[in-house]
Amino acid sequence: MTRETRCRSCGGDALQPILSLGELPLANRLLDQHDHPQPEPRYPLDLVFCRTCALVQITETVPPEELFRDYVYFSSFSDTVVANARENVDQVMASRTLGKDDLVVELASNDGYLLQHYLARGVPVLDLVAATVDVAQEHRLGDRGAVGPAVGGGADQLLQG
Ligand SMILES: [Zn+2]
Repeated sequence: MTRETRCRSCGGDALQPILSLGELPLANRLLDQHDHPQPEPRYPLDLVFCRTCALVQITETVPPEELFRDYVYFSSFSDTVVANARENVDQVMASRTLGKDDLVVELASNDGYLLQHYLARGVPVLDLVAATVDVAQEHRLGDRGAVGPAVGGGADQLLQG
């Protein structure tokens, strides 16, 4: 775990505390019976405002291998989120006239709830994943694949719509 003392965007040190929620367990990290009676790991959740560039951000960085191990949140569990993503894609398709020669890139696409709509319209997508489990490939994008790690690596596969 790393505590950031400088802005993640501009590197400035004018970070003003906004809200401290204390130390909390990771969201969506569900313990099973084998995890008890081990104490559940907790991390500070402090929100700050950068007076230089106005970015609101948290100060703690949980290692990706800890944050995304056994990651169980899937955006597509919500029909509303999926429907909103489809509407968003319709708007972007109309305003940008995207097609098979374009590329849509999403960082941390979760389970592909958004990218699936581009694929369905024939637009290639690139999914840069942070989770150790490629949830997009497993859940929404299927054997059309998903792409390489966003952390410490580059894309190794391009999905074709
Ligand atoms: Zn800043």
